[in-house]
Amino acid sequence: MGFSKLRPVGSRVPLPTADSGVLALPWAKHYDSVFVNSGTAALSLAVKLSVNGRHTLQSPEVILPAYGCPDLVAAVLAQGARPVLVDLAEGRPWMNLDAVENAVTNNTVCIIAVGFLGIPERLRALRRVADKAGIALIEDSAQVFPPFSSGNGLADFLILSFGRGKPINLMGGGALLIRKDHGQKSAGVLRVLPELEITAGASWRFKRWLFNLLLTRPLYGVMERIPFLGIGQTVFHPLVSVNRQAPVEGLLEAGINGFNNRKDNRYAYSDALQKLTGKGWVQLAPECFGEALEGLVPASPNLLRYPLLAPCRKIRDQSLVALNRNGIGASAFYGQALPAIGGISELVAAAASAFPCACDFAERLITLPAHEDVCIEDIQCIAGILSE
Ligand SMILES: *Cc1c(COP(=O)(O)O)cnc(C)c1O
Repeated sequence: MGFSKLRPVGSRVPLPTADSGVLALPWAKHYDSVFVNSGTAALSLAVKLSVNGRHTLQSPEVILPAYGCPDLVAAVLAQGARPVLVDLAEGRPWMNLDAVENAVTNNTVCIIAVGFLGIPERLRALRRVADKAGIALIEDSAQVFPPFSSGNGLADFLILSFGRGKPINLMGGGALLIRKDHGQKSAGVLRVLPELEITAGASWRFKRWLFNLLLTRPLYGVMERIPFLGIGQTVFHPLVSVNRQAPVEGLLEAGINGFNNRKDNRYAYSDALQKLTGKGWVQLAPECFGEALEGLVPASPNLLRYPLLAPCRKIRDQSLVALNRNGIGASAFYGQALPAIGGISELVAAAASAFPCACDFAERLITLPAHEDVCIEDIQCIAGILSE
């Protein structure tokens, strides 16, 4: 077997379109956009605005899931707030709603509802909890495009990321979308942010070319073997800078167009993997979309990766090895509950064992590539390997 490898995630960086401004942003009716240097920076600003909404507090607390991206913790800590982790619902990428209610205290300023690989959190139910407590609701939609709240204004703040491995890859950047009723209160916080400018000059274009080249099967396979690049590893980085940073002109529009024209391979996967469900595997996407969106249909059900739960950790780990050996970039994703990721346990003052459903989810999850270069032969190959 050679080095050739179908990358686990990631879409090509587009070229800016000339006719920018034609496309209305899908959230424009309810939210104003603030473009910043990363998704983490956007989330941290949303936390700051939530803290400001309850300005009498000494030690603000923020509720977030115990399985997720370490950047969630970094964004909260950067504002001097305390991350309060909540376990997942069993076998689901969502927080347990009773546990969310129980985690609310007089110090809570907001709940972070984190979308998972294209599957939104249960925004309506979380909105009810937040309203009862008089706190803000942040939809972290770094992995879901467009955000679930785009057309209905459910969350107070929305987060987008334009980093690699996100639905719209612009080689970095992010956006904080502020619901219009919060506009005035937010102005002071935004006015003092430093501003960075990015242009699509020769070095930007070279970087884009190289980036897209590294996404191809021969080069991804080689790159993955270079240890210092740390491809696919989950590590904690503190948040160091929050700047305003507008995307290159016409680039976001090109990214949205590219996303909207991307083919949807959910049905090809769910059909090909049908037989596994009888053997203790769970196809998360069809189950989650069917179960908990309370009649609200997400604007785009395109997935970032195709997620499955294996019957147990052993089968998950064996499947990962077999798929990768055959050139398929299958992944365990974060691999562990948040407190089990290096350095985080002390920061959140909690042990992973306090979150059994998050641990179980982390041990059984396997994600399959779902990007634009996945073809039907890949999906058949994957189904063949997994059914052995
Ligand atoms: C990637 C990600 C972030 C951080 O976005 P960056 O642009 O990488 O800083 C935040 N939340 C979630 C859920 C993410 O997947």
